Amino acid sequence: MLNLNFHPAGRHFLQIPGPSPVPDRVLRAMSYPTIDHRGPEFGALGRKVLGGIKTVFKTRHPVVIYPASGTGAWEAALVNTLSAGDQVLMFETGHFATLWNKMATRLGLQPELLGLPGVQGWRHGVRADMIEERLRNDPAHTIKAVCVVHNETSTGVTSDIAAVRRAIDAARHPALLLVDTISGLASADYRHDEWGVDVSIGGSQKGLMLPPGISFNAVSPKALDASRTATLAKAFWAWDDILEMNQTGYWPYTPNTNLLYALSESLEMLQAEGLDNVFARHRRLAQACRTAVQAWGLEIQCADPKVYSPVLTGVMLPEGVDADKVRQVVYQNFNLSLGTGLGKVKGRMYRIGHLGECNDLTLLATLAGCEMGMHIAGVPLLGSGMSAAMDYLRGTASRADRLPAG
Ligand SMILES: *Cc1c(COP(=O)(O)O)cnc(C)c1O
Repeated sequence: MLNLNFHPAGRHFLQIPGPSPVPDRVLRAMSYPTIDHRGPEFGALGRKVLGGIKTVFKTRHPVVIYPASGTGAWEAALVNTLSAGDQVLMFETGHFATLWNKMATRLGLQPELLGLPGVQGWRHGVRADMIEERLRNDPAHTIKAVCVVHNETSTGVTSDIAAVRRAIDAARHPALLLVDTISGLASADYRHDEWGVDVSIGGSQKGLMLPPGISFNAVSPKALDASRTATLAKAFWAWDDILEMNQTGYWPYTPNTNLLYALSESLEMLQAEGLDNVFARHRRLAQACRTAVQAWGLEIQCADPKVYSPVLTGVMLPEGVDADKVRQVVYQNFNLSLGTGLGKVKGRMYRIGHLGECNDLTLLATLAGCEMGMHIAGVPLLGSGMSAAMDYLRGTASRADRLPAG
């Protein structure tokens, strides 16, 4: 039976790829009193977070903030820009891509899911060349949007969004580009304007280090134009009323006041560390994690080193080992939560989150928990991933800011 008084000593290690651990600073900010959402203090808070979040998406254009999980912002992106029966082109990178595809069908769109055969697509990023070829075969421009996931949280694979933009342009196709960066935002470099994205979708509980509960649409002028003629039913999600009220820092409904305090705090933390330093920290921790997996003699879910995720690492277990059993052993013994395998890879792999509020020692503790848990569960390991990761982290200590970008 679920014991809600369960409270073991020490911190719980929440190493799933979202929700990520929430910093104490952010939790304290959330405890400020809930204020009048029509009063003057609220307007100042609203203007601050609406301005600040643009720097994270790297956009000069508006970002809409919804009191909803990421799934809500997925829906908002589709219903604001598209009409019933519209064809949309999606790419199967993993579980989240398939869920977005399912949503598009439910909304009355006609999604087409491109992908590599079997589980291959679940080990690689988006193939921009396949998107280009498909768009070239659509001379009547019946495809209205291309939808891709920037960081596929089910596999630990990123995709080259700039390459997808180039593919759309090379095909001289007017389709909108909609990108889910729910788990990439604020952990991996992301450039809404520079990459020519029309709607970028973000969430609070991953790189932004907030609890679940708010999500985002960054909106290009072209997407805003499309929203004026798109006819899918929308009311709560409609951008127009929200953008109108946002000009003075308010919302047409009661926004999530305390989560906006939290956002304000996390934006300050990201700014103080510097986004480039945040990205470099994630790349270095991700490299340390992969070094551990390789030393264990296990395979990384992402099969293409060019698109390794800085957010999480998928650890594949040998044939015949139930990854969820291993996760259970780790949880019960070491108070450490790891991500489960989703969809096609359920039971075959587990996911280590290294995003948001994380550092060398939280990663090492996590790897120690994984290593001990795998030993207890009888998983044959080649060597100690934990000490390989220690070597890597020691060797690169205080040099994180000198790692090359990419
Ligand atoms: C977490 C996540 C979602 C879903 O967001 P919710 O907040 O759970 O609704 C969608 N896409 C990606 C890539 C995610 O990581």
